[in-house]
Amino acid sequence: MTYDIQELQAKVDDIFAQVVTLRRQLHMHPELSEHEVNTSQLIQNELARLEIPYQSDIAGHGICATIYGKDKSHGVGLRADMDALPLTEMADVPFKSKEPGVMHGCGHDIHTAILLGTARILNEMKEDLSGSVQLLFQPSEETIGGAEQMIGAGCLENPRVSSVIGLHVDTAVDAGCVQFIPGAMNAASCEFYVTVTGKSCHGAHPSEGIDSLLASCTMISSLQSIITRKIDPAEAALITVGQFHSGTKNNIISGESKFSGIIRTLNMENRSFIKEQIEEICKSTARAYGASCSLEFHDSYPSLENDDQLLAWIKPVCEEVLGKDHVLLCTKPSLGADDFAYFCHGTRGLYYNIGARRPGEKNAYPIHNNRFNPDEACIKTGILTEVLAVLTVLKEESRQW
Ligand SMILES: [Zn+2]
Ligand SMILES: [Zn+2]
Repeated sequence: MTYDIQELQAKVDDIFAQVVTLRRQLHMHPELSEHEVNTSQLIQNELARLEIPYQSDIAGHGICATIYGKDKSHGVGLRADMDALPLTEMADVPFKSKEPGVMHGCGHDIHTAILLGTARILNEMKEDLSGSVQLLFQPSEETIGGAEQMIGAGCLENPRVSSVIGLHVDTAVDAGCVQFIPGAMNAASCEFYVTVTGKSCHGAHPSEGIDSLLASCTMISSLQSIITRKIDPAEAALITVGQFHSGTKNNIISGESKFSGIIRTLNMENRSFIKEQIEEICKSTARAYGASCSLEFHDSYPSLENDDQLLAWIKPVCEEVLGKDHVLLCTKPSLGADDFAYFCHGTRGLYYNIGARRPGEKNAYPIHNNRFNPDEACIKTGILTEVLAVLTVLKEESRQW
């Protein structure tokens, strides 16, 4: 379909105040991951009001809604996360959190409100849409990765969704701008746990025992050689040991030590490789010290890899509407993790940042800070770019259906 950009912008301006109201309602009543009951209800009420069919209670409190276009069996997905963080809000805003110790400190209230605004505009255009739009209101981003469960529950199957678009607010970027990161944007993540078993004895007679602490220290130091000597230096990866527990008394050789940490990599191959290497170093070091060791790995989110084709379609459209100087390209990925990554494996995905820094603001508080206070003007940019992304991808993809 063809659309009038001025008309689209006017529509966004029209609904802006109402979307801000929704956002503030969400902000005042934040709910932690896996507990998004009232958040889900607010979304359902809005979808019902717009007469958009939906399914609730997916992956916990998630909602999957569908705007049916001309082709009802194919569509584009849009994802918004819904959960808040265990923070006590210190931002001085009139719509401050009313829930003690819980705060929308990652902007997921904004993401949800934007998607409701986008849904409203796309729903009004549905007769002209070449395909359908799957609205994914996703719970538990901050903990268990609701995205994986939503995919498992079939949210991308009917209509068949081959591309999913998502956004995140960023107070390091000016409001009114969007920022794209080609290729790898966020890391694949894995937690590891190592237990080293030796033999305790008196600290004055170490040769009678096996020192699990000394063996563990060697392991922890050696692990960093995986990053510096086994991984291509042009590829980012990290190992962080964040916990180390050993021993009970100054004069006892420690019989058991435990340490644990995280692995982050920008592709899935390196994650598997580092896991193998950690196992190899720990087991062979334990052997050398006469100790034994056991390891556990818990894979978390996969790498978030943006699709080149989606970027090539969507970026020029954003440039046309927002102006070239409002569309930024960042080539530096972050080793943070986001469960949008699940949508990038299996389907293709594009995740981008929307600027949320006020004009001239210096040192704006970042996400996960208890004074985080994004500029609500970003809501307009969010809705406009989501609508444009859907129209663009539907136009391009429907040629192949
Ligand atoms: Zn977060
Ligand atoms: Zn977030």
